[in-house]
Amino acid sequence: MFSYRHAFHAGSHADILKHVTLLHLVQYLQEKPGALTIVDTHAGAGIYSLEDGFAAVSKEADSGIFRLAQFADKYKASGKNIGDSIQNYLDCIQAVNRDDHTTLYPGSPFILASLLRPQDRLKLFELHPKEIDVLRHNVNQLKQAKQIDVYAEDSFNRLKGLLPPPSRRGLVLIDPSYEDKQDYRHLETAMQEALQRFATGCYAIWYPVLSRRESAALPDRMKKIAVAHERSWLHTELRVENAPGERRLQASGMFIINPPWTLEKNLAVTLPILVEALGQDSGAEYFLKSFEV
Ligand code: SAM
Repeated sequence: MFSYRHAFHAGSHADILKHVTLLHLVQYLQEKPGALTIVDTHAGAGIYSLEDGFAAVSKEADSGIFRLAQFADKYKASGKNIGDSIQNYLDCIQAVNRDDHTTLYPGSPFILASLLRPQDRLKLFELHPKEIDVLRHNVNQLKQAKQIDVYAEDSFNRLKGLLPPPSRRGLVLIDPSYEDKQDYRHLETAMQEALQRFATGCYAIWYPVLSRRESAALPDRMKKIAVAHERSWLHTELRVENAPGERRLQASGMFIINPPWTLEKNLAVTLPILVEALGQDSGAEYFLKSFEV
């Protein structure tokens, strides 16, 4: 169960969809001054080198963050507006790098830490025996370290215990690796329990678009859970290529429960640019749908 290391996928197209969406969610929730608790149920190592180690082997950043950064430079040079969401995301990635050269990629813990206001808290879960040590070491270097709790525990079991947060304002990112088929079942149970305890929280679930039955069924399962709790939802997918038979991940999705009203409008502008930037063949496309109670 511990073969997955997120460094292989750092800065990939899937990270871009997830992290662009995440930035918008946090920035919207911080429009109010009240304390915000953010839970990252599947944290990974926190920050990754793109120059060596797993990321250098997989080279997924070549068709992800590196491709997007080059595209953005050309897009802006031609006088076009890349939009606040993509620019904010690129600025956030660049902020962990010393100069214009992108050698480091911040994972969700570092992106979220960089956004914390003094009143906010971040809770990180990581179960991998090696990854948890790296995460702890990395988090300890952050100036926001005192606002961050790191748990070496199974977040699917522990999430409900953290809900509702004391301020009753919370964002939960759920980003499993899905290497274990049971993750799909555990996700459903965790979401049922979370919504029973904290129905008004904002939940952002990432998933890979695969032919596997559980993956194809995930959005409908999440819709059923959201609707049963009378919650609004937003569902989006980004496909960068359509090459049947290829084993690499070609599309991923985000399912948001209690999305901010601004998210759909924002993604409707951002996703076509991401398709243009990251699309590798004529199968590149996006999907965006929402339902309001
Ligand atoms: N959220 C990270 C980001 O965006 O940078 C990437 C996380 S990666 C997709 C998933 C991580 O969850 C892996 O590091 C894995 O070891 C960890 N993990 C798997 N099952 C877990 C569980 N039940 N509880 C906590 N962490 C888990």
